[in-house]
Amino acid sequence: MADNTCNCTRQECAFSGEGRLCDMLDRAGVPRDGKWRTLIFYMRGLGEFSTLSDAQKARIQQLLVDVLNRRDFSETSYHDVLRADRDIRVEPYECRMREALQETERLAREFRSMLHQRRGDMDKLEQESVRAVESGLDPAEVVRLLRATFSEMREQMDSDAARVGELTVTDPLTGLGNRRAFESALAAGEVAWKGGMDLALVLFDVDRFKQINDHHGHRIGDQVLRTVAEVLRRKVDECNRSVGAGAGECASVVARFGGEEFALVLTGEGALRAGEIAESVRAGLENVSFAIRDGQGQVVEHGVRVTLSAGVAYARPGLAGTLADSLFDQADKALYEAKREGRNRVRVAVGGDRGASGGNRGSDRGSDAPVA
Ligand code: GH3
Ligand code: MG
Ligand code: MG
Repeated sequence: MADNTCNCTRQECAFSGEGRLCDMLDRAGVPRDGKWRTLIFYMRGLGEFSTLSDAQKARIQQLLVDVLNRRDFSETSYHDVLRADRDIRVEPYECRMREALQETERLAREFRSMLHQRRGDMDKLEQESVRAVESGLDPAEVVRLLRATFSEMREQMDSDAARVGELTVTDPLTGLGNRRAFESALAAGEVAWKGGMDLALVLFDVDRFKQINDHHGHRIGDQVLRTVAEVLRRKVDECNRSVGAGAGECASVVARFGGEEFALVLTGEGALRAGEIAESVRAGLENVSFAIRDGQGQVVEHGVRVTLSAGVAYARPGLAGTLADSLFDQADKALYEAKREGRNRVRVAVGGDRGASGGNRGSDRGSDAPVA
């Protein structure tokens, strides 16, 4: 349809200067009222939304493709698209909420079992106290027995408190630190940085992890996450060993802070080597070959590869202002760049001046890692 017949004129149309698009929408039967065309305009511009993953963008755009194929521009269809768009956007947050709820349930279960155990211990304590008092022993001996029993009880309660503290900062799937551990490590890193130390943050994200779940199931996905955690842990241990005693640790915390997202907070010498460590983790995982087993333990597929992308941000000592949020944003943007440039690579935030790798891809292949 010619431009001059189009209701959305050059002055009014959201697609001003894009007459061809306007014609195309006319041909596709899209009504000329602003609502559908604005929605399409928004969906075309999704590339700019750095808060959405590529998979989310593709799913949202698919909604539009489906509507165009169905040619259903009814009110109901419009509201269905908006609802589906909202669901795709909030899914990661819902996922996080579910994780938080699961974690709370797990903690509540642990607390209940500890309380149950301690109630039994209290009963035992009561019986032992009565027995000691009624034993007819020398009063000094009775006091010694009671002291010993109470002190044992106190030690158990101290160890309960330590265990509870540990549980609240541990990711149950991988045994790494959780989001809470990550946030307090970043806060501690900021204090160290204000005191003149180097600080760096590396964010890792497993590439196309949804496909792993989709192809092999959630159970295998979980196993993959455990292996990624193990590679991270090993690389950090290696780095800590090579830094040596007295020079501080390489990484103060390695944490799983979201579904398939991991973070390293590095201070001192470790911070100076953040890019190198990130590259070593990336290459280390690339060389792992996964064997997929069924529920009976039979290998059903081997040679499955999983890769990681990473974003690195450095904070050199002596800069003014607060840091934690901006450091996270920088690392996140660098990670986004790594994804955009094709994944399986490490990218350093603009302004980062330490020697991270430019994203070499390793070529040796290791032996199959047992999965499942
Ligand atoms: P990209 O390369 O862009 O990062 O793609 P992706 O598929 O890794 O990213 P996307 O955010 O689309 O998918 C992440 C998936 O991770 C979706 C979610 O189901 C899955 N996931 C999150 N937490 C867990 C978990 O604890 N276990 C398993 N198996 N999967 C999880
Ligand atoms: Mg992710
Ligand atoms: Mg991912």
